[in-house]
Amino acid sequence: MLRIFTALFFTGASLVVQGSSPHAQHSLEVSLTPETGEILIEDQVLLSGRDQYRFQLAPWLRVEGFQIDGRDSDLQRQAQDYFVQLPDGNPHKLGFILRGVVPQRDIKQEYPQQALSSSGSDGVYLPGSANWIPLDWHLRASYRVTVTVPPGQLAVATGKLVSEQNSEQGYRAIFETVQSSEIPALFAGPYQMRERLRPGLRLRTYFHDELDALSEPYLDMAEIYIQRYAASIGTYPYADFHVISAPLAVGLGFPNLTYVGRQVIPLPFMRTRSLAHEVLHNWWGNGISVDYASGNWAEGLTTYLADYALAAEAGKETAEAMRVKWLRDYAALPAERDQAITAFKSKQHQASQVVGYNKVAFVFHMLANEIGRPAFDQGLRQFWARHQRTRASWRDLQLAFEQTSGRDLDWFFVQWLQRSGAPRVSLGAHSVEQLEAGFVTRIEILQNVTGYRFQLPLLLATENGNQRHAITILDSLTRAEFVTADKPHFIQLDPESDIFRRLQKNETPPILRDVTLDPNTVTMIGSPGDDFIRSAGELASRLLDSKPRFGDLDAEQWTGQSLLLITTHQRLNKQLERLRLQRPPGLPDIAHSSAVWITTRADGATVLVVSVVDSDDLKSLLRPLPHYGGQSYILFEAGHALARGVWPLTRAALYRDL
Ligand SMILES: [Zn+2]
Repeated sequence: MLRIFTALFFTGASLVVQGSSPHAQHSLEVSLTPETGEILIEDQVLLSGRDQYRFQLAPWLRVEGFQIDGRDSDLQRQAQDYFVQLPDGNPHKLGFILRGVVPQRDIKQEYPQQALSSSGSDGVYLPGSANWIPLDWHLRASYRVTVTVPPGQLAVATGKLVSEQNSEQGYRAIFETVQSSEIPALFAGPYQMRERLRPGLRLRTYFHDELDALSEPYLDMAEIYIQRYAASIGTYPYADFHVISAPLAVGLGFPNLTYVGRQVIPLPFMRTRSLAHEVLHNWWGNGISVDYASGNWAEGLTTYLADYALAAEAGKETAEAMRVKWLRDYAALPAERDQAITAFKSKQHQASQVVGYNKVAFVFHMLANEIGRPAFDQGLRQFWARHQRTRASWRDLQLAFEQTSGRDLDWFFVQWLQRSGAPRVSLGAHSVEQLEAGFVTRIEILQNVTGYRFQLPLLLATENGNQRHAITILDSLTRAEFVTADKPHFIQLDPESDIFRRLQKNETPPILRDVTLDPNTVTMIGSPGDDFIRSAGELASRLLDSKPRFGDLDAEQWTGQSLLLITTHQRLNKQLERLRLQRPPGLPDIAHSSAVWITTRADGATVLVVSVVDSDDLKSLLRPLPHYGGQSYILFEAGHALARGVWPLTRAALYRDL
């Protein structure tokens, strides 16, 4: 479940109106009946500077009336495209009356396209991209949306809430958006609304009944995130922020609101990481919209400053683990599916997330290291101050960072943005020479993909402590020399994984998939009892990609073979001994009922261990566990994941004993 939902988090900021003038003012009156989906839209458009007007309409809407300057007129139509030639003179007032039925949600269609609108008694969703407003894309526009829904329902649109009334006739509210690059989106449902007012800011939740108790925690977190990002970037650019519960399994960001599936809202990661991400999109992606011609910088920047920053707050190790996971995912990406960052527009599939979110976030991490955190933070503030309420490109970001760092960063942006792929680094020959005064260590660093330039961190451990260095890598071969008073122990390149690079085969940390995707995996059931054996067999079938093959615990017999061991905590230690394995030292020390972890044996084969209290725990893993294929370990309590992670990189490729 986790994977599917996180895969659906993307910003709604994809439709951007071209140009800066001329300008149109839309004044919309919308009457909506969620239960039936019936909708009546009256739109008065005041415009100047155009001699024609073009727009598209959703196929479920029909034009019931059309006037130019108060006189009934005709529209030319071709399928969903409408066109009208305007008389001479300016300005003009166009009047539209549209009527239709918003399509009922198909319950079977669980993961709808973002562009689809839908209705139902539990909620209506009308994104701007659904063409429910007759707007001309050539015009920059302002919108005033007045919406009315029957009693028991509430409606909310993007934009500033200007006024609202709740009466026996129903609920009516007015929203305003001035000179927006985003088309209004409209939402309605049988919501409980909770509100918190702060100077210049109105926070609201529109939740379905069963979620009412979660309103306060959501308002708390939304307020914290808005304050945090306002302090670090610049003033929050809207008057309101809403969290709206969706009958759909989605998590979508819009200007000044986020629309989140009602089943997702109770999940712990939603209120923390995902909410932070969506709040931050009010600056990156909505406050400044993306100039898509040179690629989408907003997802990666938001990932870096929300998801990654939260990980970094939890500790250096957590941040490093996130970088390692990004590298691990990138290593698994086939070269033909790789693309340059400038080619990333929006998330279509997992592969584009690896580049458009993770690699971009990693590039920002390297940039902050390259120019220093103060210049980086100042660059973001400058970028925000200069481009808010407009559209900006990668180039604009580059210019901001160049100004605040006082450096030419063209080489940096060209190599990381315009090239697909990543550097490959390895250690070549080394030598240690003992002199009277100490030791000279010489190493060769090989760059197997040429043309990248970066500062490679290096750790040199001696008998009396560690030294840290940064080596400038420019060529395919770099020689470095270190003089130490004490005898050197070992050397490690990029010890904290700060450089985006393609991992070598022998350094990618094992993850569950290494065993679950291997057709030759042998499953061992380490505890007797019919119920345990049956549940273990069922779990193996769920986990493994191929039909399970069962075998006996015998270390010699299974040399070089992937193994899945399903056993109880009680029997685990003895069985690990027989397999010559140890419980990994990196497993978090927290109480749990089930532990799932993967490790590598001396012969290089991977072993996946599932250890539980009893067969009930096995049953509780049936549903969640298959979603954690990208992890190295997960600890569960009664089927609820408490902790998970990817093991640190093995030291093999960039590590050398001296
Ligand atoms: Zn996003």
